[in-house]
Amino acid sequence: MTLTAPGRTSTGYDLGPAAALSCRACGHRTPLAPEFACPQCFGPLEIAYDFPAITREEIERGPKSIWRYKKLLPVPTTVEDHPNMDPGFTRLIRADRLGAELGIRNLWVKDDTGNPTHSFKDRVVAVALAAARELGFTVLACPSTGNLANATAAAAARAGWDSVVLIPSSLERAKVLMTAVYDTNLLAVEGNYDDVNRLATELAFEQEDWAFVNVNVRPYYAEGSKSLGYEISEQLGWRIPAQTVIPVASGSQLTKIDKAYGELVSLGLVDAADWKIFGAQAAGCSPVSTAFREGTDVVRPQRPDTIARSLAIGNPADGPYVLDTVRRTGGAVTDVTDDEVRDGIRLLARTEGVFAETAGGVTVANAKKLVETGQLDPDADTVLLITGDGLKTLDAIEHQVGPKATVPATSKAVREALGL
Ligand SMILES: *Cc1c(COP(=O)(O)O)cnc(C)c1O
Ligand SMILES: [Zn+2]
Repeated sequence: MTLTAPGRTSTGYDLGPAAALSCRACGHRTPLAPEFACPQCFGPLEIAYDFPAITREEIERGPKSIWRYKKLLPVPTTVEDHPNMDPGFTRLIRADRLGAELGIRNLWVKDDTGNPTHSFKDRVVAVALAAARELGFTVLACPSTGNLANATAAAAARAGWDSVVLIPSSLERAKVLMTAVYDTNLLAVEGNYDDVNRLATELAFEQEDWAFVNVNVRPYYAEGSKSLGYEISEQLGWRIPAQTVIPVASGSQLTKIDKAYGELVSLGLVDAADWKIFGAQAAGCSPVSTAFREGTDVVRPQRPDTIARSLAIGNPADGPYVLDTVRRTGGAVTDVTDDEVRDGIRLLARTEGVFAETAGGVTVANAKKLVETGQLDPDADTVLLITGDGLKTLDAIEHQVGPKATVPATSKAVREALGL
């Protein structure tokens, strides 16, 4: 007789449809556990699933959050019984005015600024927290370029967990304050993100009850990004857009959106289709676009120097998988200068009323470049991912925008200032 609850796997964990961990490099399968590296080859582990039958109607009846897709994510069947951030189901907006400027006829913007801490990182952290709870951890931790720090500190606060957040000491002021306010153990580390990430990996081995969301529970965390692919497709009326443009830091998000599209097809939730995935980087941190341009599989680490700090990972863990994905689907990875990033932020704001952080500027500016260079088809349905809120990176545009004039409180002065 077994005493396991329904939904519990043979290992004793209820992680919904997650069946095992599988090595992305050598395919070796291992039981669900708080592991992230293959015991055979040290390659990255990812979740292998045994999906239940599921219908569009069932999903549509679900909550307006990522939990509507819980049967497709590595989270307990009882995930909604515990306090969490319930992110997702953010708006997908038609972007006709931006489309007209870029020369793209059918354009949409996926606006993830609407998440609880104003970036897409709430999705991955919510899944990591749910899995970490089931795996027996008691502390939530992360190394972060900023948005992950916000999301981790907030989710831990809501769950009543202690948290430890490590950031590079040069981070934007808004991102520091938007993390510290949740009363987390925030430590500014002397060094860049890649130094902070190395430190976190070391600590993950020493502190057994700390779930570093993007290190030792990374296989679970990373799957949270699939919710973006599911949502985009559902919001388009259950179809996959021909072209999706995605900002790249570690590269995880890009590969998981492609994975989500593939799952929707194999589960019969959408018709089979061709899609192209495009990656967007900043020139000041462009290890993946450089490898793409040079036609190699080897992603050579760089020392980041860009205003797009949320994308400033010089040694991206999923870089080779990004190259695989864009090459397999017929997409590309490109990069743009910091001035183009600022122009991208302002273009999106002025045409669609969406204020994005620098990563959003990176996406918009790369989309413009991809059309100009003929790599993006202007007649195919296109979705741009806006992954974070402009309030987080005000410093990026503070010298570009401001009042037209300071005037005395008279109507005459207003007319004069406006040239009327
Ligand atoms: C982290 C982040 C990304 C990129 O995520 P990866 O999965 O690491 O590539 C994109 N946009 C924003 C705003 C982010 O914070
Ligand atoms: Zn392996």
